[in-house]
Amino acid sequence: MNATNHQFRLAARPVGMPKQSDWKYTEESVREPADGEILVKIIYISLDPAMRGWINEGRSYVPPVGIGEVMRAGGAGRVIESKNDKFAVGDHVAGAFGLQEYALSNGSGVSKVDTRIAPLPVYLSTLGMPGMTAYFGLLDIGQPKPGETVVVSAAAGAVGSVVGQIAKIKECRVVGIAGGPQKCQYVVNDLGFDAAIDYKQEDVSTALRKHCPKGIDVYFDNVGGDILDAALAQLNRGARIPLCGAISQYNNPEKMQGPKNYLSLLINRATMKGFIVFDFADRYPEAASQMAGWLIGGKLKSREDIVEGLQTFPDTFLKLFKGENFGKLLLRVADE
Ligand code: NAP
Repeated sequence: MNATNHQFRLAARPVGMPKQSDWKYTEESVREPADGEILVKIIYISLDPAMRGWINEGRSYVPPVGIGEVMRAGGAGRVIESKNDKFAVGDHVAGAFGLQEYALSNGSGVSKVDTRIAPLPVYLSTLGMPGMTAYFGLLDIGQPKPGETVVVSAAAGAVGSVVGQIAKIKECRVVGIAGGPQKCQYVVNDLGFDAAIDYKQEDVSTALRKHCPKGIDVYFDNVGGDILDAALAQLNRGARIPLCGAISQYNNPEKMQGPKNYLSLLINRATMKGFIVFDFADRYPEAASQMAGWLIGGKLKSREDIVEGLQTFPDTFLKLFKGENFGKLLLRVADE
């Protein structure tokens, strides 16, 4: 195989919002796969808020990406050479392939995906990591019951849009919080949420009181900060908060802002529980088959925001933190 691989490597640990100079664009030749390995031509790369955390120094749920290493990222592509019995040339696969055009892998953590069931990008979206996050975070941690009120932040995003749709399937009242009228209209008109709050225009506390007249039973937290505080103040007795993420804090160069209204957990005998989707990996097939059924049956919609070109990565990544992505943010780096 005579091909050149282009990559983004971490050049420096960002302070605040990542800058162009925090990345290095490199190239190297692609080597032949060794026995047991496959060579994957990557087609789509997943850009996730968590990537911001992976480039910080310090203890987390995965080791930080080292300076000079290829940036960690999920991806989907096609096997173009195989010396591994489990994969054939032409198979579509998804895995942690990194921010590059080609990946060599021994197959560990790589799954085959069926593009007859859903298009390839959906395997990085609703049938991939964000969808699994929504499914297990809402159903296992949130435990919504019919008639309860579920509130979700970053509601038009990859995780939030699926959380709200599953909560509707489970017969809950669903209120989304999102930035801007377009996203708010989308979650109500296209995804069937009962109401949406534009946190950039409205006072979130007042709007929550209006749209959650019976209080909040489940608050699925994607953003932390002031929105978490507003939701905490309106919890019902026994409410559950799946702590999924805190994107409002990821680029904060100061100390992270914790919840001020946390005594509401005590008063309401409520729980707030953090989770990492990877802990549910052995149950992904259960969620994937359930969600594929909902997708095929038209009960679940998946939206991807696909940007062309590996080289756009440093700017495209920032769309997540500026609220400029509309659906699951992906880079397309090769033709399907
Ligand atoms: P996403 O929602 O598709 O994109 C991020 C969205 O966050 C932006 O579009 C923006 O939407 C919103 N946002 C950005 N800055 C904000 C701020 N300061 N205040 C309020 N909203 C802000 O991303 P995603 O992949 O679905 O991830 C959503 C959350 O889930 C993140 O916190 C992520 O870290 C977390 N997550 C956790 C796990 C886990 O295992 N625990 C797994 C996956 C994802 P608006 O335009 O609406 O502001």
